[in-house]
Amino acid sequence: MKLVLATRNAHKAEEFEQLLAPHEVAPLPDAVVLPPETGTTFAENALGKARAAAQALNVVVIADDSGIESEALGGRPGVYSARFAGEDATDQENLDKLLAEAPTGSPIAYVCVIALADPINNTEHLFEGRCTGTLAPEPRGDGGFGYDPAFLPDDPIPAPAGRTMAELTPEEKGAISHRGRAAALLAEHLSG
Ligand code: IMP
Repeated sequence: MKLVLATRNAHKAEEFEQLLAPHEVAPLPDAVVLPPETGTTFAENALGKARAAAQALNVVVIADDSGIESEALGGRPGVYSARFAGEDATDQENLDKLLAEAPTGSPIAYVCVIALADPINNTEHLFEGRCTGTLAPEPRGDGGFGYDPAFLPDDPIPAPAGRTMAELTPEEKGAISHRGRAAALLAEHLSG
């Protein structure tokens, strides 16, 4: 099945292409304007983007919203993960703020909600994936993006153990990540 992915984030597009194969994930045409992420939940933000693009294109669209929750920070930054250190903050600035505010070894969780909007059959579905871990003492690794260098996953990973998300291969990350888990639920729905 061909799905349009409503995102402008190239890293996410790459991850979804790999996670949803053999389904074809088409990029969002430049002309489609996505609404700002003003929701207070991942589901609200994901649905807003999927609906807007599905309405504009009249094809099946998926969109996701994701972020990281720190137990020590009462669940922050959550839906504000991309702008934790400010509206135009870089990944590095956001990561530095998390490392400065949350203690080493404290529990963290990645959350991803994928929304599917089908304007032909007039249906909408939500798929949620979570991945728990702890905050690494210092960032390590060049893979992934965002908070990955400081995320030590709880799930068992292939040797060597103790690697951060940024030290895993894309396949290893996809097998345990929040996005991988939400995508697996979506794939199950598409094949069912
Ligand atoms: P959004 O889903 O585009 O609103 O932004 C999600 C933000 O959460 C990203 O900019 C990252 O800061 C963070 N995030 C989400 N998923 C991941 C991931 O797989 N690795 C690292 N950071 C992530």
